[in-house]
Amino acid sequence: MNPQQYYRKHRKAIVTATSGFLYGGGWSLGYVTSFDTLSAAILVLATIVGGYDIAKVAVHEIRSRTLGIKTLVTLAAIGAILIGEYWEAAAVVFLFSLGSYLEGRTMRKTRNALQELLEMTPDTALVRRDGDHIEVPAHEVEEGEVVIVRPGEKLPVDGVVVDGESAVNQASVTGESAPVHKRDGDEVYAGTVNQEGALEVETTGAGSDTTLQRIIRRVEEAQEAKAPTESLIDRFATYYTPAIIVLAVGAYVVTQNALLALTLLVIGCPGALVIGPPVSIVSAIGNAARSGVLMKGGEHLERAGKIDLVALDKTGTLTTGETSVTNVRGFDYDSGEALRLAAIAEKKSEHHLAGAVLDAARSPDDGVIADGGAYVDGSEGVADRRASGETAAEQAGIPDPEEFTVAAGKGVIAWYEGHEIVVGNRMLLDERDIAVPEAVEEHVHDREESGETAVYVVLDGDVAGVIALRDRVRDAAPSVVGALDDAGVQTVMLTGDNERTARTVAEYVGIDDYRAELLPEDKQRIISELREEDTVVAMVGDGINDAPSLATADIGIAMGAAGTDTAIETADMALMADDLERIPYAVGLSKATRWNIYENVAIAVLTVTLLLAGVLTNYVHLAAGMLVHEASVLAVILNGMRLLRH
Ligand code: ADP
Ligand code: MG
Repeated sequence: MNPQQYYRKHRKAIVTATSGFLYGGGWSLGYVTSFDTLSAAILVLATIVGGYDIAKVAVHEIRSRTLGIKTLVTLAAIGAILIGEYWEAAAVVFLFSLGSYLEGRTMRKTRNALQELLEMTPDTALVRRDGDHIEVPAHEVEEGEVVIVRPGEKLPVDGVVVDGESAVNQASVTGESAPVHKRDGDEVYAGTVNQEGALEVETTGAGSDTTLQRIIRRVEEAQEAKAPTESLIDRFATYYTPAIIVLAVGAYVVTQNALLALTLLVIGCPGALVIGPPVSIVSAIGNAARSGVLMKGGEHLERAGKIDLVALDKTGTLTTGETSVTNVRGFDYDSGEALRLAAIAEKKSEHHLAGAVLDAARSPDDGVIADGGAYVDGSEGVADRRASGETAAEQAGIPDPEEFTVAAGKGVIAWYEGHEIVVGNRMLLDERDIAVPEAVEEHVHDREESGETAVYVVLDGDVAGVIALRDRVRDAAPSVVGALDDAGVQTVMLTGDNERTARTVAEYVGIDDYRAELLPEDKQRIISELREEDTVVAMVGDGINDAPSLATADIGIAMGAAGTDTAIETADMALMADDLERIPYAVGLSKATRWNIYENVAIAVLTVTLLLAGVLTNYVHLAAGMLVHEASVLAVILNGMRLLRH
């Protein structure tokens, strides 16, 4: 670095130090000798050196009629020189620039909380091109190219594992500390650490187009977005500064005491008030990002600090969403055939229940089903329409349906070889006037009592079977509900599932209020009803199915958002991992942030009030006022930075 570059980079520090040095020199000279004129000249020089940059901004402020702190400081310094208080002038300027230098440094440190995440991404990637392995800059890797990641290395790109198996630490993206097992077909993210085996990854995003980079961009945007308190203070400051000038002039007219008037100018600076709330918010957002929680901005953060009630979706939120078939029963059909019909109908569906049905149909001899003897054969008389006995191998290939429609929150309707197959819940059957025999009803009742979800399989209007599925409740769910309860936050569970299953899960998890058999629009309606009771409502769900409810809630919290941009887009807060425990953390952090903002406003207002009293009773003078004022600015910054370690 040549001297010029060095100067440009450290200008503020150099200017502050020079002004401080001159100030110290000028003051001591005046104190120990009688070279008063020389001392005064040095002090004026100190004022000019330290005040030049400040005055430049002040001129700009005055021109654009947005009077701010620098106008006040400049007026005070000029005034002090005019009345011969050179020492005070230099002190004000030096203390102010020292304060704003420290302020800038700490603010940068706060903002850079994420810089360490960025440093996680390696600069180069080992790519396979024409059979060779070559090292290229990471941002030059093309989509679709295969990158080799050796054990212990960081992933240079986003992609899908095409070969190898390993444990990957994804803390930088999702905040989870435990490594996640990755193998063929799993998504991996740039900036995460491959801990065990070599992985071959087909690139889906590189350079600035990776999940980590997107997260960092979001966070930076969020840190810029103003919170309501901030905007309020900004508006207030535009009237406040001119009012202080008027007050100072008034004080001079009445008392004829110029020093008093100038002191009023200095202590009236709205510094701590203006800087406090943004520091709190920037710190909180940075802390959250490092823990895998993406906060959209100050506004959301302040609102989240007031959450009274958290509504949780059941499937995929309180439960893992990894549903599996536990039991298939045929009615008038063989259970294998019922499962196969269901699989054909579900083949085009993206619902998690559909995935479970297809898995079960593709490997009918698999674990749960064979071991537990869970397939109970339809012994109630095998129908004539029953398809001639196919082997498991033949069943494995599941044909496409000819037609397929989704009934959201109810099930699917499909056509196959001229037959209509309906797979879904009771609501769907009732809607289509499909009769449910008593034996079927009893069976469904039993399964639901034990917390399973039962879906009907209907062929041409007759119930052909019932498939029972179970979804594992997340281990953390009960303790998370407990933690919210301790924080004085109510919980309610919303689900499209049936009443009995819902009750079983709600009781197990410890949620007192639950609403079952809801369509997506019902969930949305319930959220807006809850909001009307003057309650601040947060909704936790997956960002895709639950997007309407997330948008309706005061705070929409999307789970498992790392892979899905839509979730990050629609939610006010996104949990990168599927980690429920982040919810009480995020609620706690938001509440702490809200209080932190109030504390900072209180510190600022209290300081100005005390100083004002001190000035009016003649205890506080210009330089001392500046010193206390700058101390209060640093105090609010340090207070806000506490949120980095919440
Ligand atoms: P949740 O609110 O639990 O996430 P959904 O709204 O997605 O549930 O679905 C509600 C209910 O509708 C399910 O419990 C199930 O009974 C039925 N359902 C929805 N989609 C399907 C499907 N593809 N196959 C069978 N049943 C379905
Ligand atoms: Mg769901």
